Amino acid sequence: MAWVKNTLLVALMTGCIGPSDGAPLNSSITADELSVDLHFLSGDAMEGRLVGTPGIEKAAEFIASRFDSLGLEPAGEVGSFYQSFNLVRFSLAANNSFSVQDGTSSPVSGELGDHFYPLNFSGTGSAQGALMFAGFGMVDSQLGYDDYAQVPVEGKVVMVLEREPGVEELSSKFDGVVTSNASTGWRKALNAQHRGAVGILFVRDIHNRLVAEDFSLTSRNYWPGEERRIERFSLEKWTDQIHIPAVQISVQMAERLVSRSGFTFQELAKASETSSGLGAIELPGIALSLNTAVDRHLVPARNILGLIRGNDPDLATEVVLITAHHDHNGSDGADVFNGADDDGSGTVALLEIAEAYTSASRDGVNPKRSVLFAAWDAEERGLLGAWQYAENPLVPLNDIVAVLNMDMIGRNEEVPLEDSLSGRFRGLSVQSSQSNSNAINILGHSYSVDMKNQVELANQNYGLDLKFRYDNNRSNLLRRSDHWPFLQVGVPALWFHTGLHPDYHTTNDIPELIEYEKMERIVRLVHQTSWQLANQSERPVFSLAQRGEFLLSQGP
Ligand SMILES: [Zn+2]
Repeated sequence: MAWVKNTLLVALMTGCIGPSDGAPLNSSITADELSVDLHFLSGDAMEGRLVGTPGIEKAAEFIASRFDSLGLEPAGEVGSFYQSFNLVRFSLAANNSFSVQDGTSSPVSGELGDHFYPLNFSGTGSAQGALMFAGFGMVDSQLGYDDYAQVPVEGKVVMVLEREPGVEELSSKFDGVVTSNASTGWRKALNAQHRGAVGILFVRDIHNRLVAEDFSLTSRNYWPGEERRIERFSLEKWTDQIHIPAVQISVQMAERLVSRSGFTFQELAKASETSSGLGAIELPGIALSLNTAVDRHLVPARNILGLIRGNDPDLATEVVLITAHHDHNGSDGADVFNGADDDGSGTVALLEIAEAYTSASRDGVNPKRSVLFAAWDAEERGLLGAWQYAENPLVPLNDIVAVLNMDMIGRNEEVPLEDSLSGRFRGLSVQSSQSNSNAINILGHSYSVDMKNQVELANQNYGLDLKFRYDNNRSNLLRRSDHWPFLQVGVPALWFHTGLHPDYHTTNDIPELIEYEKMERIVRLVHQTSWQLANQSERPVFSLAQRGEFLLSQGP
């Protein structure tokens, strides 16, 4: 119970409200209303709410019209409830080629899929130049890390490793065993381009991977001959920035390219495990010529945003942001992926919390800060709606004091023995649904002790079993929902998540299997937490130092 004392002490010192300050109309959030909305939103008529389909249009219009009828203010663009943006998907065009001149004979050409293939974020164009090796190709100024250091790479092609230093180390400063944002491929390509590189080659980080590469299989999976049921997507605003050719090459090709440097590729890869960055190294005697051609196809998407205005003249410009994602995985022709838990549950929770706020407001009770409600698009395609907002917020980012994200809040976490080794459950322990019947995972807490204290304080009313177990886990759960982009731009953010289960991302994720009584308490908890954050005098602190200490406490 030590935390109770701490929390109350903090509450007294900072003048924030205590547990008795219950959010008004908290009990208007009911299992029955959640159930009615969820049966509608995750019904077959919504066709699984896949980006770019009529089903998601229908879902978006339902959410916007509900925001409107509840009395939220439009908080999208030009007085609307919408923030519109473009996703992009990719197809391979003709004329991709790769050739090496190493001075010994005529140029060696790699065949597409044999020793190279273009990455989907690649620019379309050509590049010629000498070759530099730049470790992991990562730059993270906050961590004091730069694989380019002061070494110029203008006019050169750079070769970089996939992933990141300390990839399996629990205490790695690159987010422990969670994949760090700085290791994202297109961000590495942008780093190279900013430094004047004319092209970038990615290679497997072989020193951290024991299983040998099957490059032609990887290549066929990356660019399959036929269309996928669901294509891979990115944001237009990201890929638009990248003009240089970006290709994946085989380890065999990499070994050839380093052969005149005096190092083996294995040695260079190992040497890249540094705490501040390798600094680019010249690979002599090599001239490369690349041609890449990837077509980009735009797909419109939109977030839905509504606001309840705060009434404190000093605090009302600040907002507490409550979020969920309304998209899911479509239909395979025969069956609909209803996505009731993922994330119909969070979306209908958003509507219920909004209703509690607008009803209280009609009774003359408003929060001090404003509360912004967001239904994100394209979460399943890579958190793209939330990234769009985090990088192009419609209120100043500094005015967003906290994010409370709800994604999958309607079930019990369950990892059966037979599924525990599958990719979907990687890193999670075997556990029964029953053992989690009162449990809710809280992620993102390691960036803000204040946020953790607030949710624990709020939970005194609900007695849920709060689990703080996944902020550094091989499942990568920490970066698997829409709070993640906000953590990356320095906003305190929590994810409320009841956990994965065997119906996750299957056609069995249906509204009949939701635990509505438990969900009611979780939604009331989120409402109460938001009310505290909207009314306390101090805003919660976001702290990379706290995150760093948390990672170090994870041990070697
Ligand atoms: Zn989800």
